[in-house]
Amino acid sequence: MRVDIISLFPEMFDGPFGHSIIKRAKDAELLSIGITNPRDFAFDKHKIVDDYPFGGGAGMVMKPEPLFRAVAYVTEQKSFLRRRIVLLCPGGTALTQDKVKELAAYEQLILLCGHYEGVDERVRTHLVDEVVSIGDYVLTGGELPAMVLTDAVARMLPGVLGSSSSAPHDSFYEGLLEHPQYTRPREFEGLEVPEVLVSGDHAKIDRWRRKQSLKNTLERRPDLLAGRELSKEDAKLLTEIKAERQADVSGS
Ligand code: SAM
Repeated sequence: MRVDIISLFPEMFDGPFGHSIIKRAKDAELLSIGITNPRDFAFDKHKIVDDYPFGGGAGMVMKPEPLFRAVAYVTEQKSFLRRRIVLLCPGGTALTQDKVKELAAYEQLILLCGHYEGVDERVRTHLVDEVVSIGDYVLTGGELPAMVLTDAVARMLPGVLGSSSSAPHDSFYEGLLEHPQYTRPREFEGLEVPEVLVSGDHAKIDRWRRKQSLKNTLERRPDLLAGRELSKEDAKLLTEIKAERQADVSGS
């Protein structure tokens, strides 16, 4: 996959994309990332990329021309069959794991990072394919959201995580939170690892993990279970969990 990021602050990406899994994915040519600065596409000699908002008001707005020209430059470099141009913006569609999977199916993502008060509305209406938000809060710029999106998408690409770690078992991948994880030591300051995990009985371990996954989801993110079609086994496990909770409440 190719990810092109359009950002006024290219240096911000050096750290996050220069280490660990993303670096390995780049080295293995599973992912390539390019950063293009819209300032290089400003018309005037002062390289102005922002201006006062029409109608007045606080702050500056990113001008459309440098962004349109930067995207044109990137798209002219190489043609990709499946390309998606995404604007990062607090008012966009929420970045969920499903959205990440959807974006991971493209060959090229072009991510536009806003700054200041945001970007001229014509970028949203006439340049990008979609607008994505990483959460209901406002950051100073689109660089961190672009890093988050790129990282989440990279994990979905075949070969990026290697065999030791697998995305389908992670939280949200198939709509539930993950089960708890334990590692050595088996006993830490009197706190024991659940017996079943050291039993060697893999059927029992799988059942325990599934139940814990449902329990975590019910307790911490019940919204993820609402309206979900449950398998017979999941429905049975949920009934057990609810009965155990009821027993705990009655016992306390
Ligand atoms: N005035 C804008 C508003 O109220 O929606 C906020 C602009 S914000 C200070 C500057 C830039 O940061 C945005 O153009 C966007 O690219 C990025 N940004 C901030 N928060 C974001 C979020 N939650 N998700 C995605 N991008 C975000």
